[in-house]
Amino acid sequence: MSADSVPSARKPFDYQVLHVTPAQRCRICARKTHVVIVDTAFVGIEPVCPLHGYAQSSNTDESTEELQMRYESVKRYALWMHADMGRIVLVSPVTDLGSIPGYELEPLTDFQEVAFFVTHEDENGVRQDMHVVWSELDHQFYLYRDGALVEKRAIEQVA
Ligand SMILES: [Zn+2]
Repeated sequence: MSADSVPSARKPFDYQVLHVTPAQRCRICARKTHVVIVDTAFVGIEPVCPLHGYAQSSNTDESTEELQMRYESVKRYALWMHADMGRIVLVSPVTDLGSIPGYELEPLTDFQEVAFFVTHEDENGVRQDMHVVWSELDHQFYLYRDGALVEKRAIEQVA
């Protein structure tokens, strides 16, 4: 955006992903989390664990920062599924969910599912490709790898 662009007439909602201490209880489950989503559009302040923490802004015109926060939330989940080991080296959106091996298309509902292609690199530099799907209906992420849904984290740590 150039410095002399005309400001939007509509004020965007305030949207932030914050890291807070002490840890809060996730809005959905019993896990403790340091991540809090602040969205003045409706939810207010919402602590979310990696499984339940898709950072989707309510603003229709998503800013670069908001896009970054959204991708970070996908990364956070994908890394968490790997016991927070290694790193996520790529996140890119997938428009055709039918192209995801192992994923079964939901019958059409009002609820959206969004998907991302993700690459994880382990501590030895070995890379593995996978897909992350966010289900608005279930309000959680799912991970697909090698043509199947991955049911379990590498290590579960329910607080
Ligand atoms: Zn949770």
